[in-house]
Amino acid sequence: MAKFRPPKYRKFGRGARRCQRCGSQDAIITKYGLYLCRQCFREVAPSMGFKKYR
Ligand SMILES: [Zn+2]
Repeated sequence: MAKFRPPKYRKFGRGARRCQRCGSQDAIITKYGLYLCRQCFREVAPSMGFKKYR
């Protein structure tokens, strides 16, 4: 009988953040559950209802 193994904890701590759009690791915004770098966020924001995020 195999022992029950708890699922490995996801490695998603610091440093694992990446932009979902361009893959950049620079200035990732996770505020709204988004994983986008600042540049991508600024491009995507208007189409998502955000106005002039700075
Ligand atoms: Zn990006």
